[in-house]
Amino acid sequence: MALAAAAERVAAEFEYPKEDVNRGVKEFIRQMNEGLAKQGTTMSQIPTYVTAVPNGTENGLYMAVDLGGTNFRVCSIQLHGNSTFSLTQSKVAIPKQLMVAKTSRELFSFLAKQIELFLKTHHEDHYVSHVERRASSAGGFREEDIFSLGFTFSFPVQQYGINKGTLIRWTKGFDIQDTVGKDVCALLQKEIDALHLPVRVAALVNDTVGTLMARSYTSPGKAGTLLGAIFGTGTNGAYVEKLEKMSKLKGMAGEVDGSTGEMIVNTEWGSFDNQLSVLPNTPYDNDLDKESVNPGIQMFEKRISGMFLGEILRRALVSLVKDPSVPLFSDEHSNQNDVHSTTNIQQDSPLFKQWGIDTSFLSISSGDNSAGLKVTRQTLDNEYGISAASAEDAEAVRLIASAVGKRAARLSAVAIAAVVIATGKLGDNTATEVTDENVVDIGVDGSLVEFYPNFEEYIREALRDVPEIGPLGEKRIRIGIAKDGSGVGAALIALVADKAMKAGPR
Ligand code: BGC
Ligand code: MG
Repeated sequence: MALAAAAERVAAEFEYPKEDVNRGVKEFIRQMNEGLAKQGTTMSQIPTYVTAVPNGTENGLYMAVDLGGTNFRVCSIQLHGNSTFSLTQSKVAIPKQLMVAKTSRELFSFLAKQIELFLKTHHEDHYVSHVERRASSAGGFREEDIFSLGFTFSFPVQQYGINKGTLIRWTKGFDIQDTVGKDVCALLQKEIDALHLPVRVAALVNDTVGTLMARSYTSPGKAGTLLGAIFGTGTNGAYVEKLEKMSKLKGMAGEVDGSTGEMIVNTEWGSFDNQLSVLPNTPYDNDLDKESVNPGIQMFEKRISGMFLGEILRRALVSLVKDPSVPLFSDEHSNQNDVHSTTNIQQDSPLFKQWGIDTSFLSISSGDNSAGLKVTRQTLDNEYGISAASAEDAEAVRLIASAVGKRAARLSAVAIAAVVIATGKLGDNTATEVTDENVVDIGVDGSLVEFYPNFEEYIREALRDVPEIGPLGEKRIRIGIAKDGSGVGAALIALVADKAMKAGPR
């Protein structure tokens, strides 16, 4: 088969048409409601015990740490009380072996050491005072020397209070069995205490909740922010829900401040439709899942997020390379039957290794408009051990990469549309004017929304495909990047937690 036709055939497998988007939205709303009513559903709809969003006037100095899918960030945040903040931060890549360590301790003591290093580097005052304190044998710290820390932990946690929660399951390639079921705040506090640091873990925060809080702080509108969403290494969303709809809360242990009548819910939508009743499923999706560390779960995430898109692309490309009738990356000077000798692909090319293609390559290739797709060809050569790729090869890669990325964006729109519709936030979708009152504000973060070309435009296209939203409703949905939102958001929640603590038990 000609290469272009073969690539088009594969790209077509990733089409996700209007009807499917709408079926997806209906099922998404059904699973949201199910998760609000009972525990143990695929979409967890986790109560966060955060019952108000900030309004920009909050102030103070806080610490935040963020254990994401790829990096560990430590920061201190000065909230200025006028919707602005200053942030000092350090970031390290999480060593791969710690993601799959035998014991929780290995990971959490590493995190505590990074906190220590950060304090030494950026907050000598706090660090020195506590060292002196110990030397003076008075023990303990002065209350004013203690940093309240918001712990952004971007994994599904069953929360019991603002700084208590047990890990439900790992995602994004992490796999430390010993942590499941344990209180991750307590694990971190224990390692912090072992290093005698003046730091109190005051709040446990999902990154989506942090994003929502940060967005509300930095761009407070009359209508408030509805949703915080991450489209990065993983995907998830947190939104403002009415307490009265959260019927499962009655049977749960945590203490709820009911004064606002609302609570932020962490959907954990990465596990939407694990049963695959409406999600698209190609052979590449299927094999990726089977060979992952968590088969059968995070099925929505496995079709959307950065951890997986490169791998989907890789599997699609390998299927073409292995098809002897398709001349992808073929070496015209050879005609033997072995893949490696008939192609320009090196033996040890990452193309043949699980997770070998990084999702950033998807962005590079989809966005390539250099002459003859030179950029894609160079990247194939430099990073993937595929030399002398032709323009036709690169075109085939671009076609498939774009199809994978576009499907991810349209699936993301399913989640956004469902939250907007289920909360009734949009109201009348025939309003032609966009005002401060009727705008629906959404804060987003993550490498895909930030770097994948046209990700938001593809999302918007799909939103227009949903009749309850339509072209007019779509215009009223404002999507803004809450850059590094999880750090600021965690600080804001630490602030809320501090206030509650100082006010004493209700
Ligand atoms: C986790 C979520 C997180 C999301 C984005 C998912 O894998 O389950 O808790 O919010 O990734 O980081
Ligand atoms: Mg993150």
